[in-house]
Amino acid sequence: MKAIQVHETGGPEKLVIADVPVPMPGKGQALVRISTAGVNFIDIYFRIGLYKADLPFTPGMEAAGVVEAIGEDVTEVQPGDRVAYAMQRGSYAQYAVLPAWQLVKVPDRLSLDKAAAVMLQGMTAHYLTHSTFPLQHGQTCLVHAAAGGAGQLVVQLAKKRGARVIATVGSEAKAAIARDAGADEVILYNTQDWVAETRRMTEGRGVDVVYDSVGAATFHGSLDCLRPRGMMVTFGNASGPVPAIEPLLLNQKGSLFLTRPTLAHHCATRQELLWRAGDVLNGVASGALALEIHKTYPLSGAAAAHEDLAARRTTGKLLIDVNA
Ligand code: NDP
Repeated sequence: MKAIQVHETGGPEKLVIADVPVPMPGKGQALVRISTAGVNFIDIYFRIGLYKADLPFTPGMEAAGVVEAIGEDVTEVQPGDRVAYAMQRGSYAQYAVLPAWQLVKVPDRLSLDKAAAVMLQGMTAHYLTHSTFPLQHGQTCLVHAAAGGAGQLVVQLAKKRGARVIATVGSEAKAAIARDAGADEVILYNTQDWVAETRRMTEGRGVDVVYDSVGAATFHGSLDCLRPRGMMVTFGNASGPVPAIEPLLLNQKGSLFLTRPTLAHHCATRQELLWRAGDVLNGVASGALALEIHKTYPLSGAAAAHEDLAARRTTGKLLIDVNA
């Protein structure tokens, strides 16, 4: 089968196509014939070595496809089932072996492309808005990079929970996308004083929660946007990882709460996975959740996908057709 491999960490050119054997499913595992893989910023972190993986590795943390074979003691899926998954590495490939309990059946009325597109970012938006800081009607959140893959979904789910959404984006074109996703106010954070704007929009009070995926560039400003005892959710490093801080800073900024969550810990059981995946897959299938597919790249275009994502040229979701 064809798979992308990374033999040493570095730039997009380190993503090379290789011919490798189709893996065999062991006990509790399933072999999935992948149709579409999702591209996520986390794939860049692994490629550059910010997140560690044994070399060589196949990147990609999300896909949809069809179960080809199952190992012993698998009860969750059968050969022929249409399935999707997230947070298991190796999806930039034509086949992958996964723990069967991490596979979710795709509703009949949903395409595999759309399922691959929403699993990781959709479940992330779900845990951020339902579990990390369960937004309530009348609360206000600040969402950075709101036209991105995760951002558009965080905005939509925050609105569904009745919150007011202040969004930041990098361009006018992205502002229109954030507004379409439901943002009440949009700030261009590259050109406007977004901290002052956020405080002005909240009559000086500050927001209840910041969902910050940008990381180093926005971290300190985000703290200044929060109300006393508000929650800082730093969940990504698009501009680089946040450096160390003194806990005393949280006291000085208003007895703030700080968390650095990841999806893997929010799909820790089959029950939790089925809840979140069910909500987002059915949301897209019914049209309640809008999904923007920016572009589908061939397997040989994985490097171009990474370049586009890192250069802030994209909005919505990037996919890889692993058979093209
Ligand atoms: P996006 O589609 O959001 O793309 C990243 C966006 O971040 C860019 O389009 C850009 O938007 C903004 N950005 C700001 N500064 C930079 C920078 N220096 N370099 C590149 N982009 C920048 O990507 P994803 O939806 O895949 O991921 C968004 C973030 O969410 C990532 O940080 C990712 O790690 C995080 N994430 C975390 C998860 C978790 O569980 N912790 C799970 C899923 C995603 P603009 O031009 O508007 O500034």
